[in-house]
Amino acid sequence: MEPARGRHGTAEPVNSGSCGRVPVNRGTNVCKTLGMDTTSASSRRTFLLGAAASLGLLGAAAPTAFAGSDRPTPRPAFVPEPVRTVEAGPLGIAVTFDDGPHPEFTPQVLRVLRRNRVRATFCVVGTEVEKYPDLVRAIHRHGHTIACHSWSHANLQELTPAGVGEEVERGLAAIGRVLPGYRVGWFRAPYGRWSSEVMGAIRAAGLRPLGWSVDPRDWERPGTDEIVRRVLADVETGSIILNHDGGGNRDQTVAALRQWLPELSSFGYRFVQPA
Ligand SMILES: [Zn+2]
Repeated sequence: MEPARGRHGTAEPVNSGSCGRVPVNRGTNVCKTLGMDTTSASSRRTFLLGAAASLGLLGAAAPTAFAGSDRPTPRPAFVPEPVRTVEAGPLGIAVTFDDGPHPEFTPQVLRVLRRNRVRATFCVVGTEVEKYPDLVRAIHRHGHTIACHSWSHANLQELTPAGVGEEVERGLAAIGRVLPGYRVGWFRAPYGRWSSEVMGAIRAAGLRPLGWSVDPRDWERPGTDEIVRRVLADVETGSIILNHDGGGNRDQTVAALRQWLPELSSFGYRFVQPA
């Protein structure tokens, strides 16, 4: 039996080596720094707007410093971007689960998915793969995609290039030991903390970067109804929906899934796996 989890996921013996190690996130919920994703996304947007403005891409409002100039256009700094949507035709969307496998919640998620005939993608953490290999096999047996979510759920932006490579390789190796021959195609950076080092490391390992476009912030435990509301409010064709089956108490995630999954099906949405 798993020890009881703190109401806000602060007691996370299963995943204690994951988010708790990140200085900015010490003592908080396992994926609380996902909030940082918003910040980084908005700062990225700000940057891109700035870059677009400096390149004269924003029309009349943009500065025209380079208009009529034959100087080479300055190239904006490289901004690594993961795949954030799926292209699977009208109403095609993807559901993803992070931070597992978890002995309590992963089986619950698998049951809901099976009942709704939905195949999803599980971004698994290497340390948890080692602890619960049977759950990884179950995910695979049920026809879901398994993606690598690093070895220890470290903030890869704070590691050296060698450290990043190790997180990727150890995470992959853990999956390989449990599912020999399984070809992992995707990597998702913990907290959505992408960098050119991360992109380089996963490219070298033959992986593609998997992001998301709909984040109901289920890890905040905002209440089942609120998670449902957030998913339904934001979903659209091509959405990749982020959920968590591990890293803390995910009972609200599971309860919400029981509601929004059949609801989206009734709207005509089709659930696909990133390809
Ligand atoms: Zn995560």
